[in-house]
This record gives sequence, C-alpha cells and structure tokens, in this order.
Amino acid sequence: MIAVLYLISSVLFILGLKMLTRVSTARNGNILSSSAMLLAIVATLIEMGKVDYTWILAGLVVGGLIGGIMAVKVQMTSMPEMVAVFNGFGGGASVLVALSYLWDKGLGGDASQTLNTMIHVDISATLALSIVIGSVTFTGSLVAFAKLKGLISGQPILFPGNQVLNALLALSMIAMAVGTVIYAQGSDQISLFALVLTAIAAVLGILLVTPIGGADMPVVISLLNSYSGLAAAATGFVLSNNLLIISGALVGASGLILTKIMCKAMNRSLANVLFGGFGQEVASGSGKTGDLYPNVKSCGPEECAMIMEAARDVIIVPGYGLAVAQAQHATRELGDLLIKNGATVRYAIHPVAGRMPGHMNVLLAESNVPHELLLDLDQINDDFKNCDVVLILGANDVINPAAEKDPNSPIYGMPILKAYEAKTVIVNKRSLSAGFAAIPNDLFNYDNTLMLFGDAKKMITAVVQEVKEMS
Ligand code: NDP
Repeated sequence: MIAVLYLISSVLFILGLKMLTRVSTARNGNILSSSAMLLAIVATLIEMGKVDYTWILAGLVVGGLIGGIMAVKVQMTSMPEMVAVFNGFGGGASVLVALSYLWDKGLGGDASQTLNTMIHVDISATLALSIVIGSVTFTGSLVAFAKLKGLISGQPILFPGNQVLNALLALSMIAMAVGTVIYAQGSDQISLFALVLTAIAAVLGILLVTPIGGADMPVVISLLNSYSGLAAAATGFVLSNNLLIISGALVGASGLILTKIMCKAMNRSLANVLFGGFGQEVASGSGKTGDLYPNVKSCGPEECAMIMEAARDVIIVPGYGLAVAQAQHATRELGDLLIKNGATVRYAIHPVAGRMPGHMNVLLAESNVPHELLLDLDQINDDFKNCDVVLILGANDVINPAAEKDPNSPIYGMPILKAYEAKTVIVNKRSLSAGFAAIPNDLFNYDNTLMLFGDAKKMITAVVQEVKEMS
C-alpha cells in the first residue's frame, strides 16, 4: 500500500510540475503538487509506524501555518527571497536527516556508545553527499536571502585569496567526506567526521555566494534550488525512500534547467555568473545623471496620450517597475482603450524582465491580458522597427542598447528587446536611475525617446484618463 501511495504521489508531482509550465494551468498544478506532498507525508508516517504522531501533527500544523501565512503575505517582488529561504530549509532538513540517521545508529557523539550497526559504503557515501550539498545549500541560500533583502550589500564581496581559500575548503571537505565513508565501516569516529564535514560545507556555502552580485542572485537561487533537490535525493537513498529520490531528482533537474534558461537569456555562462563578480565595476550607474544624459526629453501624461492615441501599432514593454507599481490593471485598461481605438497592441516579454522567470506573464495574466498578445523576444524583436510607439513601463536593463553596442558593458551580448528601433519610444520610470544591473542606459538620450517620469500606476492611470477624454 505504501508503494502504491508513493507511486500516486510521484505521478501527481510530475503532473503538477507539467501544469506549472502554463499560466492557465499553473494554479491547479500547484494545488496538485501540494496535495502530492501531503499524501507523501501521510504515506511516510504510515510506513514509519512507530513514530509519536503528536509531534508530527504539531510539526505539520505549525509548519503549514507558517508556510501559509508567508505565502499569502509575501509581495510578488519578494518571491525570490522567499524561494531562497525555502531552498535553505530544504538543504538544512537534508543535513538534519542525515545527522539524525547517524544518531539513530548510536553515533550521537556519546563516547560510551559504540557503533550499533555497520553502515554500508553506498549509504555512508550518499550520507556524506547529503551533508555536503545540504549544508552548502543551507548557508548559501541564507546569504542569497540576505543579499536580496538588503541585509548585506548586494555588491560582490571578494577578498584576496578568496578562490584559494575556497579550493582549500573544498579539498578538506573531500577529505572529511572520505573519512565519513571509511569510518562508517566500524568506528564511532564517523560522527566527528560528519560534524566537521557539515561545518566546512556550511562555511564554503557562504564563501561561494558572497562573491556573487545581487543582480545574479535569482540565478544562484535557482541553482541552489537544484542543489536542495539533489540533497533530498541523496537523503532518499540514505533512508531508502523512493519518493524522496524521485521528488529530489525532479527538483534537481528542473532547477538546473531553469538555471540554464536564465543564463542563456542573459547571455552569460554559469561559470561567469558564479565566479565573474558581475556588478562590481558598475557604480557608474549611480553617477551624476546630468553628465550621463545630456539629451533627455520628457513628456507628461497628456502628450503621451496624444501620441498613443494617434499610433496604429503599439508595443508595450513591461519591466520590474510595473510589478513594483502594481500597474498591470491600468496597463491592460490602456491597451484595451487603444485596441478599441483601432490600434494593434502587443506586449513584448523579455525572458528576464522583472525579478523571476515568467514574472511579467504572471502579472499580465492577473489583469486578464489575452495570452496571445504576449509575445516573446524572438517573436516580436523584428517588429519594433515598424511600430509607431513603444511604451516601456518600468523596464530598463532589458531594453538597454549597450547590450548590443558597447563591448565594454557588463551586459554586452545579452539579447535585448530592440525598442530603440521604434519611431517613438516612451520610457516610464520615476527617475534616470539605473536598473538591476546598475549600469547607465543610453536609450534615455536617443532622439526618438521621451521620458514619462513618475510611478507607473499613477502615470498610466493619468494617460488612460487623457485617452478617455480624447475619444
Ligand atoms: P530593471 O531592474 O532593469 O529596471 C527596473 C526599473 O524600474 C528601474 O530602473 C526603476 O527606475 C523602475 N521602477 C522602479 N519602481 C518603479 C515604479 N514604481 N514605477 C515606474 N518605474 C519604476 O528591470 P528590467 O525588468 O528591465 O530587468 C530585469 C533585471 O533583473 C535584468 O538586469 C535581469 O538580468 C535581472 N534578473 C532578472 C531575472 C528574472 O528571472 N527575471 C533573474 C536574474 C536577473 P526608477 O528607480 O527610476 O523608477
């Protein structure tokens, strides 16, 4: 019966994951996967049989409550932080399970205790793996969380000898892991090795993430997500729990695929993200804006509305600022008005616009923008040159021409939306400040660009009002 429950749970996980790939089915996919998780917990409890259910139930209620409250309260823009924390907990849980497995075998560090059972080499090897990956994931995720939350600087933190120290730590980690495996063959020294291994991996987790800039944190989080899955899968081998192996492998693989997609969208290699110290040399973004932008022209909502009203072909480019301002409903209202007015309106979605993959799709789906009007970079990039107006709402890096024209730019080579090719470009943002990559954007200087300064929601609502009055 347990095997059947595990099988049902695994199938539900896979179906849930598949449904998460489409906006229209994502919500149900999430519910399906959560139900699979509950089923998995129940099946595991039945399998274990002898456990004290009071504690388990208390854990379920308290954990479920905290998770539920966090999920409801978290802002969409803070989602990567939350995912970082959850990854960290996943890694931490794997370490605790691995250590408690040793404890259960009579290796709790009490000198009077002796090894109750010989731990077979395949188990001790996966045990060491679970400790290493879990511990790195735990501390690495906490650093990623702290960087995104602004608790520590988002700048890459590098010191002389950083990489050498990391290499030394990695070597001693391997030595400790080998010790864990060797001493599992009949000595209680294994607990000492396992604890030192946990500590070294924890330090390495911190040192691996601190040199990475805040702009790359979502990629790191996706990678750590993958690690947490691998740690869980390794723990599954230790506990001989097939479901943990399957679900861990699913998380491991999907996290890796997502990491690859994000790196590709930014035209960066994973090695460059992890060791490139990206974002370090980019302070110029916060320099004197007057010197950087001598040719800026701005417009108000009224002028913007007149231009939009006259346009026949409009492309709207949403970015992170749209999410911050929660301007998706006003944006859809403007789009609808222009369509009613006879214009063609489409939305250009860059794969890394916002702060997480699919961020813009989710936002615009929330305001019921028809899915077929949302076009990917490849689908729309050739159309910018023929369009009358591009309205850029809180996007910056994803439309920065430096990615194509300035070989010295840190984002050089990243595919961008070619908004600069349009006849008129209207950029809405609150100031001339830089975006996430902290670099200047020469598009603000272009002759065909007009800046519409202000909060996206306020400005678009004002433009909507003006368009209504005109028609
Ligand atoms: P950016 O971070 O480049 O720019 C956002 C702009 O929004 C800012 O310049 C800001 O300017 C403006 N803004 C902020 N608040 C408001 C508001 N209330 N109203 C109007 N504008 C506002 O965003 P993009 O979406 O263009 O680019 C995403 C960045 O995130 C890229 O660098 C990408 O590589 C990175 N990234 C994204 C990932 C993803 O999965 N989506 C993953 C990894 C990295 P101002 O302060 O002047 O208003």
